[in-house]
Amino acid sequence: MKSVISDKHFHNEAAAYAFVESRIWPNGPICPHCGSVERISKMGGKSTRIGAYKCYACRKPFTVKIGTIFEASHVPMRHWLQAIFLMSSSKKGISSNQLHRTLGCTLKTAWFISHRIREAMRVTGIEPMGGEGEIIEADETFIGRLEGQPKAKAGFGHKNTVLTLVRRGGEARSFHVDSTTIASIVPILRAQIKAESKVMTDEANQYKNLNKLFPLHDSVNHKAEEYSRGDVSTNTVEGFFSIFKRGMKGIYQHCSEKHLHRYLAEFDFRYTNRVALGVNDTARAERALKGIVGKRLTYRTTNI
Ligand SMILES: [Zn+2]
Repeated sequence: MKSVISDKHFHNEAAAYAFVESRIWPNGPICPHCGSVERISKMGGKSTRIGAYKCYACRKPFTVKIGTIFEASHVPMRHWLQAIFLMSSSKKGISSNQLHRTLGCTLKTAWFISHRIREAMRVTGIEPMGGEGEIIEADETFIGRLEGQPKAKAGFGHKNTVLTLVRRGGEARSFHVDSTTIASIVPILRAQIKAESKVMTDEANQYKNLNKLFPLHDSVNHKAEEYSRGDVSTNTVEGFFSIFKRGMKGIYQHCSEKHLHRYLAEFDFRYTNRVALGVNDTARAERALKGIVGKRLTYRTTNI
């Protein structure tokens, strides 16, 4: 079997540009400055950058990188595509250190690349999940340590709280929340889940009165060692947490609080586009690539 990573767009810069252009501009190039789709021509000549176009409507040059996570980076396009493939296909993620060694770039560049790709994986503008006949499991987990907080002897007060919603047989959505109080949890459930869904949780206090919002809400009583009752369980969301925790522990030991939501987007993305739902590694990487548009990061990214 031919290795996927031997494909030309992973190694040849012109092929890499052509690959990205065909995904981002399926109907031909679009000028990012004025929106024109006509009177655009590819710039030729030896001194011209690969992938450069000129718009004769506004007379400005551009490439497919403009307006995407690739903008203003000097990282070769083929390296972006390799990194997207590696992050999309490694079940538990890939560390910046590994990326730095694989791509032969600096550790700092690897770090920026991976955060930008997480941004590409972040899903935006989505509808509430679930609906009639759909089961949504909700649960929280605790990870890392809040900045400036010493390790507590007991409890989770020093850790970051993550709320995850999983549609059984479907997607995952995770949120970095302040705490497990009703005020932190319930507004997210209300915004993210359709009221007619069957919501399943454990017996924790924040879920006690959930049937007012979700009439079909049901819970298992973990304290009484009840883990399932008929189809009622939170085993699916717990399965998600186990992948997330193994990844965070093994690969991303030093995730700071302010970046946690990016890692969550990455784990949600891979889970939502998993093999069991018919998405293979190549298709998953293509989906990540489609997410590069309109996701420029606002923090300082010079000289990368
Ligand atoms: Zn233009």
